[in-house]
Amino acid sequence: MNVLGKVLLAFLPDDLESVIKFALLFILVPIVFLTLAFAGPITAVEKIPLVSYEQIQMYISIAKKVSESTKNPYSEGVEIDWRQLVAIDAVRFKQDFSEANPQEVEELAKLFLEKVGEVKVKEGDEVKIYPIYRLRSLDEVLNILHFSREEKEKVKEFLSIDFSALLDYAVPENWSPVEKTLKWPVSGVYTITSHFGPRIDPVYGVEGFHSGVDIGAPARTPVTAALDGEVVYAGWNDGYGLVVFIWHNNNLETRYAHLSSITVKQRQIVKAGDVIGYVGSTGKSTGPHLHFEVRVGGKAVNPFDFFK
Ligand SMILES: [Zn+2]
Repeated sequence: MNVLGKVLLAFLPDDLESVIKFALLFILVPIVFLTLAFAGPITAVEKIPLVSYEQIQMYISIAKKVSESTKNPYSEGVEIDWRQLVAIDAVRFKQDFSEANPQEVEELAKLFLEKVGEVKVKEGDEVKIYPIYRLRSLDEVLNILHFSREEKEKVKEFLSIDFSALLDYAVPENWSPVEKTLKWPVSGVYTITSHFGPRIDPVYGVEGFHSGVDIGAPARTPVTAALDGEVVYAGWNDGYGLVVFIWHNNNLETRYAHLSSITVKQRQIVKAGDVIGYVGSTGKSTGPHLHFEVRVGGKAVNPFDFFK
């Protein structure tokens, strides 16, 4: 008998104990497989960031404000690094920056200040006091916050990420698109919830690259074609959920993802401004928004380049 035959025979039940073992094998193996199959997608969802442009602006302005407050005629003051504040909160709030409010961020910023002295000056009848501050190190602040060793490492891992790219790609508040080549796909809605470029994942590190812009809009808001073209795909596509791909002239392609429904068919010719579907949250999405992507020669480019 060959080896394979012997192995198979060894698995065949010949008494009650073996029957139970055999049955267990049939229960346990699928459980292990299911666990492995679902572990992937769950991890992927947890890795969705993020700190928005507006939230980063809040950290920058508060760090600046608190730093400014340390400056006086007798001290040039200290400079608080806003990136350290973001990194700490990324770990404190487990990436959910919606929990961050200006008051708490200011309190956190002040933990970086240690008063080491003061200068008393008689000005007229009054005695004015000018405090002198020293900047606490990140480790000192993390100790004050009672961070564990693991949490401290996460903060430092987060700090190794380059934030500048995120800010470069972002647009200022109250921005509205300049429509030249392309028409904005959700008329009147300019809330950008995630920008094109490197995604920041506060806990696990950089999550690849965000290939489009996310426009936060209520579910069922009409989505329109950005330019005349031909629908080359309309349907389900894994992470995109319900998505429409449109090809235009000049090697240009636009994609509209996470739709709740689609109103066009493959091969349909559309005009700029035609409704192609409605905003939704299908696929890898945490809330209703349009993921709008522009590709040139197949390569994703910053959609804002077409609206600035
Ligand atoms: Zn997106």
